[in-house]
Amino acid sequence: MIEILSAGPDGIARAATLLRDGRLVAFGTETVYGLGADATNSAAVAAIFAAKGRPRFNPLICHYPVAAAAWEDTIPTALAHALAAAFWPGPLTMVLPRRAGSAVALLTGAGLETLAVRVPANRSARLLLAAANRPIAAPSANLSGQVSPTSAAHVLAGLRDRLAAVVDTGPSEVGVESTVLDLSGATPVLLRPGGATLEALEAIAGPILRAGPPDDPLAPRSPGQLASHYAPALPVRLDATAALPDEALLAFGPPCPGAGTVFQLSERSDLAEAAARLFEGLRWLDSEGHRLGARAIAAMPIPPHGLGLAIDDRLRRAAAPRV
Ligand code: AMP
Ligand code: MG
Repeated sequence: MIEILSAGPDGIARAATLLRDGRLVAFGTETVYGLGADATNSAAVAAIFAAKGRPRFNPLICHYPVAAAAWEDTIPTALAHALAAAFWPGPLTMVLPRRAGSAVALLTGAGLETLAVRVPANRSARLLLAAANRPIAAPSANLSGQVSPTSAAHVLAGLRDRLAAVVDTGPSEVGVESTVLDLSGATPVLLRPGGATLEALEAIAGPILRAGPPDDPLAPRSPGQLASHYAPALPVRLDATAALPDEALLAFGPPCPGAGTVFQLSERSDLAEAAARLFEGLRWLDSEGHRLGARAIAAMPIPPHGLGLAIDDRLRRAAAPRV
């Protein structure tokens, strides 16, 4: 039986105990809900892959309550320090050389010589990380390839039978995953657009290279860049300027012609609001839209700047041919 814990002191203490015992605990962060395990315990980390039904051992992000803890497992560059000062706690993940002697299990980093680290902003998440007092590996708390969860209810819908507990920290404020930035080479490379915008990062880091589509030689550096990901059950059609009769619409701003069943990401075309509602919308269209007769999802175009870059990226993967 999964334990549903509150974000109060008792719930946090219980969740920390379970994590330290090598159990799987989902918890909310400002990006999405994470499926957490003790990153130093390879059996616990293996259980993450099993619970998600991940086909391969993708490297996982390690979460810390403060930057100093992250530097115990990685070797920060001057730029990493500057970015941490500006963006942590927050939705930025940095890929850095792994420190020799780090207790993080090799499986957590899929055997790579780098490690992805982040300090989340959600207060309850940081209290939990501090109480667990060890790095916590946490990919999104959903079955592999499916839509990421932004509430405890979403986690329960996909993983109820596979977890020890979920900490209900309320809805995720940002709503898309963290930006993943590779700082292990000479030039920073954007491996995944996310909650920290490219514009804001470049203001500090200078020009950032962008890893291209999955056949790009840079792409294998981030195995999470699978073309099909974040996929609802219904097929997704992008850049819709009109909805077809059997389509439910994911709207951004005033709905386009032909719209019947609509999930509005943001009436006032606000990208932050749209990011926070994106995964909720895909789930709603998949269940309610389908129940109301839709056989596909049409997504209106999202401007590809600021948080729009992350939203657009997730929609393209949701629409990609399924593997
Ligand atoms: P998630 O499964 O949502 O936590 O996504 C984690 C993302 O970080 C994936 O895109 C991973 O491929 C990426 N990632 C984690 N660790 C590394 C690493 N050491 N090098 C490159 N990418 C990484
Ligand atoms: Mg994920």
